[in-house]
Amino acid sequence: MIAQPKASHFVDGAYVEDVAGAAIDVIFPATGEVIARVHEATPAILDRALASARRAQGDWARTRPVDRARILRRAVDLIHAQAEDLAQLETLDTGKPIQETRVADWPSGADALEYFAGLAPTVTGQTIPLGQDFVYTLREPVGVCLGIGAWNYPSQIACWKSAPALALGNAMVFKPSEVTPLGALKLAEILVQAGLPAGLFNVVQGRGAVGAALVTDPRVDKVSLTGSVPTGQKVYAAAAAGVRHVTMELGGKSPLIIFDDANVEDAVGAALLANFYSTGQICSNGTRVFVQKGIKTRFLDRLKARTEAIVLGDPRKDDTQLGPLVSAAQLDKVMGYVAQARDQGGRVVTGGNRAPIKDGFYIQPTVFADVTDDMTLACEEVFGPVMAVLDFEDEAEVIARANATEFGLAAGVFTADLARAHRVVAQLQAGTCWINAYNLTPVESPFGGVKMSGVGRENGHAAVEHYTQIKSVYVGMGPVDAPY
Ligand code: NAD
Repeated sequence: MIAQPKASHFVDGAYVEDVAGAAIDVIFPATGEVIARVHEATPAILDRALASARRAQGDWARTRPVDRARILRRAVDLIHAQAEDLAQLETLDTGKPIQETRVADWPSGADALEYFAGLAPTVTGQTIPLGQDFVYTLREPVGVCLGIGAWNYPSQIACWKSAPALALGNAMVFKPSEVTPLGALKLAEILVQAGLPAGLFNVVQGRGAVGAALVTDPRVDKVSLTGSVPTGQKVYAAAAAGVRHVTMELGGKSPLIIFDDANVEDAVGAALLANFYSTGQICSNGTRVFVQKGIKTRFLDRLKARTEAIVLGDPRKDDTQLGPLVSAAQLDKVMGYVAQARDQGGRVVTGGNRAPIKDGFYIQPTVFADVTDDMTLACEEVFGPVMAVLDFEDEAEVIARANATEFGLAAGVFTADLARAHRVVAQLQAGTCWINAYNLTPVESPFGGVKMSGVGRENGHAAVEHYTQIKSVYVGMGPVDAPY
């Protein structure tokens, strides 16, 4: 199994190593084997990364957007040309099934590069007539952006952050999660191969302390974090001290509401996707599945049957549908939530145990029914394949209960009554809602949270707001009328 990167960091257009930084072992979650080792960035590496980003950014901002876009589109072609190798690396880094990493991770990242390459040349300012005088506005890059990633979609996150940043004339220093450090290095390699000038996309490795050191560096103009709410609170506060721009993509406990009149097979399919894709390690997962009482028995019967048919195993195999959790620590955390749910009166419909596989961080796909709003399983983000099914009677009740959470990342509604679907969605407190669908996040659609789930939006035209800033230029066309 070969996953060893050429070096730990990618700075100023090339791989660099500094073994003075603490070692981080990269573990293949399906076996527990160490497949690579990287070193945390030392202050010297961080300094080089930030200095090169600062140096490169000015010329890049002055480069024609179509010329910037051409480089990003070349990177898209390079990603597609080595799609299978990249999918395999992502599977090693995360433990996610190859059938997912082939279609979701890098392909979605490539979509972001292609989308923002197309969008960037269309971004313009305004002219504002003032009689004889006028104002024009410029949309300028923010400068040097810091990206900090989570471990669940490491390469997609690196692309979702760097694509708008680079397309719109910024530089980026990216710190991947210490759990999954490999994909971002590949992205840096590909971007340079596509012609991106040195210094514009740097990757530095490290744990939280490395991220924290970067957030407060005066050379950073903007911070974009994907991570948990507690990390988001720390990073947002640290960024505020320097009045830096932020995008915060944080956690969720999203409701998926299934009304009596929904198509049962579609609703079950969505609930499975909303809880078991990526072994349940998705921020927008619909982990509170509210099922109206009239459909409950039929729903649970089909849910149990389809859950028990899921193929769990080695994520490198083509037919595996569910892989291990990302780490031993995550497995412990998820098993802790399962035990607590049992203690608090949740009824196990299926699963509830570690999977009978010798090595690796596997858990059975698990469904709890009769979950109530006060149970920990209904309140906290588990980040594992553990579904909570809750009953409800009517529309007003379910809306109130769906919104009774500090999170507000996503929500889903299944019903044949489209008027009701739109009425419910209008009242849900969530950044992204799906009607008769779940967890589809095309790059064209803005993505992000309300309440504690985040600030700002990734993807879509909305991302332009977060990677540019407006300069207003007042042009005086006549004599200066001074009263002095
Ligand atoms: P995490 O919060 O533990 O870590 C996220 C990143 O922040 C890591 O790179 C980590 O090293 C870094 N970090 C930790 N402390 C820091 C500090 N003080 N300063 C700067 N950086 C610091 O999250 P995780 O466990 O890697 O990922 C899972 C979480 O991410 C879940 O809560 C999930 O919902 C969330 N997530 C959100 C989205 C979204 O788009 N909203 C997408 C994916 C994951």
